[in-house]
Amino acid sequence: MIYWFIFVWLGNLIVGGAIGNLRGRAGEGLLLALFLGPLGWLITLLLSDKRPKCFYCNEAITEGAMVCKHCGKSQNPGEYLATLKVRRKEAVEDPVDRWEREQRAQGEKTR
Ligand SMILES: [Zn+2]
Repeated sequence: MIYWFIFVWLGNLIVGGAIGNLRGRAGEGLLLALFLGPLGWLITLLLSDKRPKCFYCNEAITEGAMVCKHCGKSQNPGEYLATLKVRRKEAVEDPVDRWEREQRAQGEKTR
């Protein structure tokens, strides 16, 4: 009888830890299962996802991953910042500035 109880209790902990692990909260999943049993599993499922998110597609990825498993893009923060700077330069250029620059370039050609 006691073996059956230990078996169920361990199973409860394993399920709680596994559910927590899905959300980057293995330790909390274990603790909640320890104190609340299957109710703890539910609470773990309702907790927010603690896993880091991909810079590009915003999907949850594994802690420390170098490449996103969803979109395959590099998770190097330096690379991401570099692409952001390029994008900002493109977006920030004023259409009037651009027109003037093009006019100047044309004027230099005809001169
Ligand atoms: Zn991604």
